[in-house]
Amino acid sequence: MLLDTNKHKGLRNHLVETIKSKGIKEKNVLNAISKVPRHLFMDSGFIDFAYQDKPFPIGADQTISQPYTVAFQTELLEIKPNDRILEIGTGSGYQTAVLIELKAEVYSIERQKELFLKTKKFLPKVGYVPKKIEFGDGYLGLPDAAPFDGIIVTAGAPSVPKALLSQLKIGGKLVIPVGEDVQVMTLIVRKGEKEFEKHEFGDFRFVPMLKEKN
Ligand code: SAH
Repeated sequence: MLLDTNKHKGLRNHLVETIKSKGIKEKNVLNAISKVPRHLFMDSGFIDFAYQDKPFPIGADQTISQPYTVAFQTELLEIKPNDRILEIGTGSGYQTAVLIELKAEVYSIERQKELFLKTKKFLPKVGYVPKKIEFGDGYLGLPDAAPFDGIIVTAGAPSVPKALLSQLKIGGKLVIPVGEDVQVMTLIVRKGEKEFEKHEFGDFRFVPMLKEKN
């Protein structure tokens, strides 16, 4: 049953305090984390773990990202209402829901068929309707829906995919964890047609961004 109770809300407020103490400041982002019922994005047997600030297995060898990481990446995007945001790695849809709470128009790509089908069906059931969820390869982005105000990659990328850079608006931001075993959180801002500015924000660990669909 898709139930969100006061107990869950209390646990979420506690989670918000935790990520605040780790450095998340943006009010809109904290508000979004306080609203999205993360326990519904996980299998029911794991509900007790839903409001710990940890990643968790969601099947198909993938994980739902740690709330702190979701908040950190979301903060870097500086989302304004109606921004067009592309997410690479739909996974459980948790990050997608956080983006929708911020009133972004969300496009999301997932390469695992099983997760794609499950999450596409699930999100509208809990009131989160993305503009589009696509089964495909995030390395290619979504040229038909480009350009984007922001692109967020939620898997560890060995390098920055060129296609994603070309699908940013001028002024648009790409937030991407770059690296093999450990990833450096990287923000790339498109300053001009061929001009990009790079900022780095420390180490994170993600499941790898993979080629080929399955
Ligand atoms: N945003 C998700 C995080 C899921 S983990 C959440 O909040 O739950 C990363 C996801 O990226 C996995 O679901 C994985 O299948 C997906 N992924 C990996 N490589 C990909 C690629 N090349 N294109 C699109 N998705 C990819």
